Amino acid sequence: MYGLGIAKGLAVTFRNLFRKPFTVQYPEEAVPQAARFRGEEFGWFEERCTGCASCAKYCPLGIIKIVTHPGGSNMQEGQSYTVDTFDIDIGRCMFCGLCVEACPYDALFMGSGFERGQYVRDDLIIPIEELKSAERRLSTWYRPQLEGKNYHPHKDEPLSWEEVGRK
Ligand code: SF4
Ligand code: SF4
Repeated sequence: MYGLGIAKGLAVTFRNLFRKPFTVQYPEEAVPQAARFRGEEFGWFEERCTGCASCAKYCPLGIIKIVTHPGGSNMQEGQSYTVDTFDIDIGRCMFCGLCVEACPYDALFMGSGFERGQYVRDDLIIPIEELKSAERRLSTWYRPQLEGKNYHPHKDEPLSWEEVGRK
């Protein structure tokens, strides 16, 4: 029948006219992230870190560089190292999280950011100064203590080193 095709097309149009849109207008609006999302940043807590370098040894890509010197003071008994260098080359990171799993002192966490675009590869290296001063919005991935508190990196306040350990 003449005009049936147009009517069918309009029916589809009207069906979709009042539907909630699937797309969001980034960057004005962002898709909500899961608390376990592993982003391109790290949360490192100097106060908890002994400089043992387990994270660097377990990283399959060898992109964590740690340099220490003896004589610092740390909360862990028997440890006395100061961490001078703690650089992570996230330009090569595959976000496997093995470094976080390897840390015996809950000093290293995956972060939850995702907007670190750079023009130069070297600018993707996170140096120790940045790790120290970063706002720590920590992924709850591999950190049951954070999940136990129902912590959400994008809804709750950043955490201090006293709040992130299992003890
Ligand atoms: S997440 Fe994986 S690749 Fe990235 S620094 Fe950690 S161990 Fe290395
Ligand atoms: S972050 Fe953890 S594994 Fe890495 S050096 Fe510090 S204490 Fe050791």
